[in-house]
Amino acid sequence: MNTAATMTVEDDAMRTKTWDEFAAAVRSQLARETKLTREEPLAPKTTMRVGGAARVYAEPASVAELQALLRAATKHGVEVFLLGRGSNLIVPDEGVDGLVISLAHEAWAKFEPIAGGSVRVGAGLRLKNLCGRAAVAGIAGFEFLEGIPGSVGGALRMNAGAMGGWMFDVVEHVELITFDGEGQTLAKAAMHVDYRHCTELHSAIAIGATLRPATVADASAIKRQMDAYAKKRHESQPREPSAGCIFKNPTGNSAGRLIDESGLKGERVGDAEVSSTHANFIVNRGRASSADVLELVRRVRARVRQAKGVDLEPEVLLYGRAWKDVL
Ligand SMILES: Cc1cc2nc3c(=O)[nH]c(=O)nc-3n(C[C@H](O)[C@H](O)[C@H](O)COP(=O)(O)OP(=O)(O)OC[C@H]3O[C@@H](n4cnc5c(N)ncnc54)[C@H](O)[C@@H]3O)c2cc1C
Repeated sequence: MNTAATMTVEDDAMRTKTWDEFAAAVRSQLARETKLTREEPLAPKTTMRVGGAARVYAEPASVAELQALLRAATKHGVEVFLLGRGSNLIVPDEGVDGLVISLAHEAWAKFEPIAGGSVRVGAGLRLKNLCGRAAVAGIAGFEFLEGIPGSVGGALRMNAGAMGGWMFDVVEHVELITFDGEGQTLAKAAMHVDYRHCTELHSAIAIGATLRPATVADASAIKRQMDAYAKKRHESQPREPSAGCIFKNPTGNSAGRLIDESGLKGERVGDAEVSSTHANFIVNRGRASSADVLELVRRVRARVRQAKGVDLEPEVLLYGRAWKDVL
């Protein structure tokens, strides 16, 4: 007799077997340098530190390995998700049903000044290292990215911005690989970018970019500007784990101000809390679950709608799921 409980156990066993078989099939095609794991915990790989595991997780060591992973995923009908530094993501508690690929291998972290004043960078390079290495090389124009805790790839996908600039201000070309494994180089003019958005990177993986900074300046002036931006962040943003700004700013308005004026600073669900330092940040006070964060997002939206008549739209991404299914 099949009770609901036995069905669930059988379903789980079947799912586990399917993912095991997929992982084994992929592993047989990869070099040892490429990391491939099952049920890799994702919370420690994000700045919010919530959520479950990736069914299959890979850190490819080269373009060929990345292509092999993508081909295998297509063949087995497995969905692919890119993970940068996890600084704009909320991972659901049940984890991510798919192949999560991270460009964390050092092969993706290059920083190469080239003739004509441009810099070629890998998509896995941390923005912190982009700023630091540019400062040492006397290359000005990347300072506005100082303090954004993401990678080049994540910053391209999100068109990350701060201090009056955004990522695509400094882009010349983006090298990408489509989910079918085809390599392309796109000029900025051929890409569709907007506030926290790059259309082409919804269905492709950025593997690198050629960036063109504004000017060449002396290293100490660049360092001073970066220190000034860092100080500003230090004073205005919380220190606890978070995913940065939770909501996009509505046109001509500030999400943080709307949340603050709706009396929500300090509002809490479990260990998820609306920051008292900056109302557009939800912080993890220790043991928050993804469900806590989502419940708080719903509560904040409902209260702001009630008090201000504004529907806030999340900026942070719900990894592997769509916001419309949970809000
Ligand atoms: C304290 C704090 C402060 C922040 N301040 C700012 C700020 O001032 N301005 C701002 O814009 N953001 C800010 N953020 C948000 C975040 O840092 C940026 O959105 C950042 O660009 C995300 O990069 P990531 O590598 O962490 O991407 P992730 O969060 O890992 O991923 C974000 C999205 O990019 C995709 N992605 C990642 N890598 C690639 C790739 N190689 N190719 C294609 N898609 C990819 C992912 O699939 C996902 O859809 C802040 C976050 C925190 C925690």
